[in-house]
Amino acid sequence: MPGVPPRRFSFQKATMSLSGIKIRIIGAGVGGLAAGLALAQRGAVVSVFEQAGVISEVGAGIQVGPNGVAVLRALGLESALREGAIRARAVELRDHRAGARVLRLDLDALGPDQPYFLVHRADLIDLLASAARAAGVRVRLLQKAEGVVPGKAPRISLANGAESRADLVIGADGVRSVVREVLNGVQAPFFTRQVAWRAMVPNVIGQGPEARVHMGPGRHIVSYPLRGGETLNIVAVQERAGWAEEGWHREDDPDNLRAAFSGFGGEVPEMLAAVERVALWGLFRHPVAPVWHRGHVAILGDAAHPTLPFMAQGAVMALEDAWVLAEELDRAGQIEAGLAAYQARREGRVKRIVGAANGNAWKYHLRFGPLRAAAHAALRLGGAVAPG
Ligand code: FAD
Repeated sequence: MPGVPPRRFSFQKATMSLSGIKIRIIGAGVGGLAAGLALAQRGAVVSVFEQAGVISEVGAGIQVGPNGVAVLRALGLESALREGAIRARAVELRDHRAGARVLRLDLDALGPDQPYFLVHRADLIDLLASAARAAGVRVRLLQKAEGVVPGKAPRISLANGAESRADLVIGADGVRSVVREVLNGVQAPFFTRQVAWRAMVPNVIGQGPEARVHMGPGRHIVSYPLRGGETLNIVAVQERAGWAEEGWHREDDPDNLRAAFSGFGGEVPEMLAAVERVALWGLFRHPVAPVWHRGHVAILGDAAHPTLPFMAQGAVMALEDAWVLAEELDRAGQIEAGLAAYQARREGRVKRIVGAANGNAWKYHLRFGPLRAAAHAALRLGGAVAPG
């Protein structure tokens, strides 16, 4: 992926060295399901505890760059992924006024074995959940974890009053992770002074298989097609002084989105005219957790390192974590040594990517013309990656 050097994974062939080890994962998102599958493929006995009543995802798209596809390939899921996904041919950056092209990154130039896919989030989750179940993972719904006691025989306490013991507990419980707090204490995030809208619309502008970013002062808007190209996924980001909550599910009036981007030209007005429902949320920045494991408890994905959506790498990092965690436990043959090797192998790369995603927003948003031109040049040199 441009701007993100693909990790040189060893992708070691799974052995059955985790045979019989009892593992509990909290959270059936991308990271939890991928970890469940990778660990079950190595012989572990895995249950995933999910707080929701169904395994589902918000109606939105996700970009899976070549580094994420490499993990899905190693898990045996690439051909199924290709069936429902669109292979993106380019990432295009455009100026907001009339939509003039600033930069086009040719993704085909990465090579035939480095595909960049545009996928509906629900399709990715379904794929991971069915593969995990087929590998013997038990996914248990309506099981909200309230606390975890680390140690050599860690315990999870559930909101329904039950307790569960395991040889290893993995917190894949997202941005508000209970397990992260047990390992690290409370670490308050801070508001980035940016909010984001998310919407799906019919592909009224006939956008081809590419991600487009329209960049303007204090705002940008990203679009890409999904599911055969009939639908467009839109994420629009605006700088704003204040915000209270973090979360994806607050509905907003589509006219607020149209008003925020009223100065944008090119195809943006037509695209936004098609918006009927929209969600709005605040973007918060969290520190990367200093502690990823203690005793026989670990965290991965957003639980360890929530990532702003300016590089389309959050879920892909969760996939990488899941693979490396399984591989290092397999290699070490001992839980604590495996967990230490997992953090040592992941931490540097994750910090680089979280930092790069933090830095991308200003490049899309500059107000002052000459600075904007310089930022656009920097994007050309650095090779931007499309935001989420
Ligand atoms: P989550 O997906 O948050 O899953 C956590 C799961 O744990 C959930 O199912 C939740 O219900 C469950 N859970 C939480 N607490 C508990 C509990 N106490 N007990 C039981 N279950 C619990 N990333 C990309 O790679 N590409 C993109 O294009 C991209 N676009 C994005 C666009 C936007 C607008 C945003 C906001 C993010 C985007 N991301 C993208 C980031 C990506 O969505 C996240 O990084 C990713 O979902 C993290 O996966 P996860 O499995 O760690 O956590």
